[in-house]
Amino acid sequence: MNTIANNLKTVKEKINNACRVSGRKESSVTLIAVSKTKPIEYLKAAYDCGIRDFGENKVQEILDKIDKMPPDTRFHMIGHLQKNKVKYIVGKVFLIHSVDSYELAEVISKESVKRNVTTDILIEVNVSGEATKYGCSVNEAESLVRRISLLPNIKVKGFMTIAPYVEDGSENRQYFACLKQLSIDINLQNIDNISTDIISMGMTVDYEAAVIEGATYVRVGTAIFGERNYT
Ligand SMILES: *Cc1c(COP(=O)(O)O)cnc(C)c1O
Repeated sequence: MNTIANNLKTVKEKINNACRVSGRKESSVTLIAVSKTKPIEYLKAAYDCGIRDFGENKVQEILDKIDKMPPDTRFHMIGHLQKNKVKYIVGKVFLIHSVDSYELAEVISKESVKRNVTTDILIEVNVSGEATKYGCSVNEAESLVRRISLLPNIKVKGFMTIAPYVEDGSENRQYFACLKQLSIDINLQNIDNISTDIISMGMTVDYEAAVIEGATYVRVGTAIFGERNYT
């Protein structure tokens, strides 16, 4: 567990350093500890180091973990979300990062109305255009935001992207810069009932590049908790 504390220290130092070189305030970046596949003890160790934001990509895993953590813990749904699972997490997660279709937003909206809550979401954008990735295209993003902005009890808070897998994270700066630009462009449209404040981008290999390009949330797993074992 000491390892988690040490890892967190290193990651935070690197985030702060990236803030310094890009003239950003350290407080403008929030670290989401991506705890998928990891046992609850690991999350508690990170919590004890001050982490309150955790990222998970499976609905069932969020449900299993959420009651075992202190009430001020914020769970972020960062994985692809199936429409038939929406009902399990509305009202429980802090933010859904992975909304990439109007149909999914509609289901979230309906479920939120039913439960009398407002659900905050990000629009997932496939900036790199890789065929294997979820997310709307850069060109579709504005019209998707406009349509979702008219739905009740769901609020667009910004954008999320997953960059390609690379060895050298700085290669992904172009994609991060593109998402930041998209956020600026859509903000200029003054669409009612939405905000563009959040930009969720950057993982273990490229979070420093993402911070330099304007990330407000970075989603870091391996660098904090170690490699994942899926077997
Ligand atoms: C797993 C995951 C991460 C964290 O990846 P690491 O490389 O372990 O830091 C970040 N974002 C999403 C969407 C993920 O699924």
